[in-house]
Amino acid sequence: MAERRRKFWGWGYEDERLGDDEERRVLEGWADRLGVDAEAFERLPVPDAGDIELGAPRIDPPSRVAGICSTDTYDRLLHTYGQSIPDLARAFMKDFANAPDYVAHAKTEEDVTAVLDWATGAGVAVIPFGGGSSATGGVEPAVGGGFNGAISLDLGGLDKVLEIDRTSRAARIQAGIFGPALEAALKPEGLTLRHFPQSFSHSTLGGWIATRAGGHFATLYTHVDDFVESLRTVTPAGVMESRRLPGSGAGPSPDRLMMGSEGALGVITEAWMRLQDRPTHRAAASVYFADIYDGAEAIRAVGQAGLYPSNLRLLDPMEARITDAGDGTRALAVLAFESADHPVDAWMGRALEIVADHGGEFDPEEVANPDAHISGSAGAWRAAFIRMPYYREFLTANAVINDTFETAITWDRFRAFHDDVKAAAEAAMEEATGKSGVITCRFTHVYPDGPAPYFTYHCLSRHGALLEHWRYIKERASDAVIAGGGTITHHHAVGRDHMPWYERQRPSLFGEAVAAAKAKLDPAGILNPGVIVPAPGR
Ligand SMILES: Cc1cc2nc3c(=O)[nH]c(=O)nc-3n(C[C@H](O)[C@H](O)[C@H](O)COP(=O)(O)OP(=O)(O)OC[C@H]3O[C@@H](n4cnc5c(N)ncnc54)[C@H](O)[C@@H]3O)c2cc1C
Repeated sequence: MAERRRKFWGWGYEDERLGDDEERRVLEGWADRLGVDAEAFERLPVPDAGDIELGAPRIDPPSRVAGICSTDTYDRLLHTYGQSIPDLARAFMKDFANAPDYVAHAKTEEDVTAVLDWATGAGVAVIPFGGGSSATGGVEPAVGGGFNGAISLDLGGLDKVLEIDRTSRAARIQAGIFGPALEAALKPEGLTLRHFPQSFSHSTLGGWIATRAGGHFATLYTHVDDFVESLRTVTPAGVMESRRLPGSGAGPSPDRLMMGSEGALGVITEAWMRLQDRPTHRAAASVYFADIYDGAEAIRAVGQAGLYPSNLRLLDPMEARITDAGDGTRALAVLAFESADHPVDAWMGRALEIVADHGGEFDPEEVANPDAHISGSAGAWRAAFIRMPYYREFLTANAVINDTFETAITWDRFRAFHDDVKAAAEAAMEEATGKSGVITCRFTHVYPDGPAPYFTYHCLSRHGALLEHWRYIKERASDAVIAGGGTITHHHAVGRDHMPWYERQRPSLFGEAVAAAKAKLDPAGILNPGVIVPAPGR
């Protein structure tokens, strides 16, 4: 049987697309919300690899490296882009100008070392590639003219759970393993990592750690960082491996240097990860509020009560409507608790008291339903959450810019920040496209001192101008996020798209310190140039 191939132009496998009915529903829904005629959508066909000409590879690796490299067109196309909107838009326009010269498929750590050793001497850029689900331009070999070529280093062959320590509840896992394979390997032991980003099925452990991904838990264990016990990283200067420790106060953490380094400081090859027992007790509830501000006050109170729900997501009324979780008149909070050890009813009971004190309304019968987390409003939202990645590519092909940006802000500044950012994005959509768009907000993660607001916007552009429109909106929205005191990313990473704002956000001396660390670990500057550390000569 032929191997199932992933799309080089979008999300998932080549054989996956929206059904005709679903496509019609999505387009009619957006025609209605954007106030345009459904006929206004101009749809680009799915690109055919046979129509795309790539330049000949500019470099000639030695046999040790050539033996694991491919110059196959599909492979080079698949490794040109991640999943950001400009990535998808250029894929549909058949623009693959920055395709890697080669794709190296590492199956062992020695393969990684061989690629880095050769590339360092040959002046070839190396882009570590996990699942390629980067939403911020993290994997595109857009490395400028200072290199003799570019290689995408695919880590998908490093895909094993190597060791499980049941006593400490941890496992040694190779970095290239994808989410589903990782969970499948842990399941027979009754264990789980319980790190479920929306991109779970097409992203890898190494990618999660390299981008400090945000996962399943809305509170407490928000980023994958919290599950990292130790890391093994191959750099051009050698291998760095930290000790397995439950905690350590011995100076700055070596793991923290690598977490979030986005392939610019080294290639993460293995990690010891902290695991959990699989949950057996659950409780879920949907709670309605007049608007996002009332909801936010209730969420703040729950977030500050020390209850640590696994889910504590707040959707503004329009976001609830678009995801079929509400009718658009009220904000919706999805609240859930889980445990492998004890019933969670007492925690849920206390959380519901708090939200009720803040005007939240819920259906006690739904709360009593053991399947509440997969039925009702929570279930509708969950279903839309899983389908959304397919909508991104479909809407892009129809010239609808549909992007997200996410941030975090302390509670004291939330309201003004939310309003200013939303207003900036609304104005930018209108200025760029000449038509108004729709922007919604939800909280993906909640901390005692503030939420992580996640904005989704849609507006009608046109093919040929989409990239320019997207960039205009991105710049205005990102300026507003930084001006309002937020972070340019809570969990989607920096990549190439967020570099200008990341440089404004971080202390400049810290930027210089990270650049010095890169100079030590990657003296020729070949690793993912332009990400985290500005590209040389820029
Ligand atoms: C539809 C969609 C939903 C998403 N949902 C979430 C979400 O819920 N939470 C979230 O946090 N993010 C989310 N993302 C963003 C993305 O999935 C994450 O950044 C993810 O962690 C990337 O993993 P990956 O394996 O695909 O990495 P890639 O996309 O392959 O790489 C991302 C970056 O990490 C580097 N890298 C990859 N592997 C390694 C390695 N082993 N060593 C060193 N560097 C490496 C790459 O060079 C690149 O800079 C989403 C993206 C999409 C498109």
